[in-house]
Amino acid sequence: MKGLENIYKRIKDSSDKFLGYPLAKDFTFSEFAPFLDLCINNVGDPEAKSTLTIDTKEVEKKCISFFADILSTTVNDVWGYVTNGGTEGNLYGLYLARECYPDAVVYYSESTHYSVKKNLHLLNMRNIVVRSQENGEIDYEDLEQILTIHRDKPAVFFLNVGTTMTEAVDDLEKIKTIIKKYAIKDYYIHCDAAFLGTIAPFVEPKPKFDFSEGVDSISISGHKFIGGPIPCGIVMCKRAHRNRVANSISYVGTLDTTITGSRNGLTPLFLWSFIEKHGKDGLKRRVCESQELAAYTERKLNEIGVNAWRNKEALTVVFDKPSKKVCEKYQLASEEAIAHIICVPGIKKERIDSLLFDLENEKKEKENLVLLEV
Ligand SMILES: *Cc1c(COP(=O)(O)O)cnc(C)c1O
Repeated sequence: MKGLENIYKRIKDSSDKFLGYPLAKDFTFSEFAPFLDLCINNVGDPEAKSTLTIDTKEVEKKCISFFADILSTTVNDVWGYVTNGGTEGNLYGLYLARECYPDAVVYYSESTHYSVKKNLHLLNMRNIVVRSQENGEIDYEDLEQILTIHRDKPAVFFLNVGTTMTEAVDDLEKIKTIIKKYAIKDYYIHCDAAFLGTIAPFVEPKPKFDFSEGVDSISISGHKFIGGPIPCGIVMCKRAHRNRVANSISYVGTLDTTITGSRNGLTPLFLWSFIEKHGKDGLKRRVCESQELAAYTERKLNEIGVNAWRNKEALTVVFDKPSKKVCEKYQLASEEAIAHIICVPGIKKERIDSLLFDLENEKKEKENLVLLEV
């Protein structure tokens, strides 16, 4: 193919440079090259064998078991599959919620990922946006006020375990208190743990968001903190929810419990190879190292006079949005007046230092301009 080399170079260069997105960079999967000459397809339910056996479902099930374990449960009680990413997992969680309570109202904060609105539109579910606090966490008072108006309706709580912009975590304990206070009988809790799903289990004190807390479903991205060449994710739910939507499809001889029919069979191999290589201890170490880099970044930014902060132990450092030039050079995601750096594995300290250098220079230039004007 013409120009392939240039496409590779461009993407390689961008990958080395970005600082603003939650995608780990420290992976290599070249040992899987022979698999690129095969079509691998995990069509249908991971637990149901298909007539077509070009799959990696055994490996997929092992991945699900591992995730069940870090989410404080076992595959006896929960079921899950490897998705195309966090968005599909969120769509799936909301789909299960709707099948459970067709006339429910969905509550979610304004800091929620942009894809959720579209998901709700696709599912045609009634929903209400709740205000966020300054740090990106849901505003519990606002939630309470809205909830009192609709307390006769089943409630679906779509909670963030790490918002996209500031890595804020909605407090499940507080949500439960509100549920109790208004005696809400029918409710469903989904956690969007796209980025933090593989981090939060290893943070002390551990944010409450998993199956030991009684949540109904959780969505996690695989290509974010774990990292890999193809976007993927994990969705997990209580078994009863999955059984409610299971329809037997004889054509493929499997169960149609997943959103798409054909599913990626390569990504479970990547996830499993990561899990085998690193395990829980490796993940824990990875989290510590990333937290250290985030603490360093936050401290250094403040030292050069840039207003920077983090939510507790977050890998996301939020700061005042710099010039367009700097945002582009370091591929910093920004929203209104703030930008962020996400300290994922594979980001080198030198890259952070280079950004600090540029920010400091820009600051000096600005000060000089002011002096000239005077
Ligand atoms: C990234 C992200 C998503 C979407 O996940 P994809 O894997 O990109 O589909 C959803 N929610 C949050 C909080 C995210 O950070």
